[in-house]
Amino acid sequence: MNNRVYQHHLPRKRFGQNFLHDNYIINSIVAAIHPQPKQAMVEIGPGLGALTKPMAKCVESLTVIELDCDLAVRLAKHPFMQQKLNIVQQDAMTVDFAALSAQMGQPLRIFGNLPYNISTPLIFHLFKYTDAIYDMHFMLQKEVVNRLVEGPNSKAYGKLSVMAQYHCQIISILEVPSTSFNPAPKVNSAVVRLVPYTTRPYPVSDLGKLATLTSQAFSQRRKTILNSLANLFCAKQLAELGINARLRAENLSIEQYCRLANTLSMRTL
Ligand code: SAM
Repeated sequence: MNNRVYQHHLPRKRFGQNFLHDNYIINSIVAAIHPQPKQAMVEIGPGLGALTKPMAKCVESLTVIELDCDLAVRLAKHPFMQQKLNIVQQDAMTVDFAALSAQMGQPLRIFGNLPYNISTPLIFHLFKYTDAIYDMHFMLQKEVVNRLVEGPNSKAYGKLSVMAQYHCQIISILEVPSTSFNPAPKVNSAVVRLVPYTTRPYPVSDLGKLATLTSQAFSQRRKTILNSLANLFCAKQLAELGINARLRAENLSIEQYCRLANTLSMRTL
């Protein structure tokens, strides 16, 4: 990443600052989000306002969460946006999105070109608030989008896929070349839409069990689940659950992981 000044701001690598400058991509993202004037739009990491400006034109008000104090101050002084913006100068990882939704009186529509260094933990943080979220649109590393959308029997399918698809319907929207950013990141990017289920297809009683199970299975993804989950299930128990013990972590469906998680929860009751 170079560190040349862009729009009178020196991009900060530690805040994952890669600013979008490609108008075709910016307009495509806003069109995909399709904002309506009274909706509760929330942007994570507005930066220099590449998405904020066109979005502010479409809505009555817009909440933005920005960690970089200099950028938050700059947005607060912006000539036409300042009246519409509710600026939260805070780490998005510490934001209580349920409280924000309650304050705004409706489920949130969250979007952002996320800082890549914290995108996966931030997505996991947001999963805690899916009841308060209507949908999310994020620019991410293409590799992370692949992990979010892929199903069983593919290399990209892993813990993130299972946990994300447990909570949300996920659609890949658009691929974005690194030349669309300043400074250009070393990786390609993509935009993804996540829509939390109002009724989950395969509910689990203890999400922690699903998280532990998938961590354990995928940390040894080349082993059969009979081996990788040996401390949790024997061959007979897997057979009783209708799960082939010779399968590997990447061969199990979301529904099968949920079935295993619920079995573990029942045992500890
Ligand atoms: N939205 C702008 C754009 O598309 O050009 C900037 C995107 S840049 C990839 C990521 C932005 O997130 C930066 O403005 C950065 O300062 C901000 N940021 C980084 N870490 C953050 C955090 N933990 N919470 C909130 N904002 C953060």
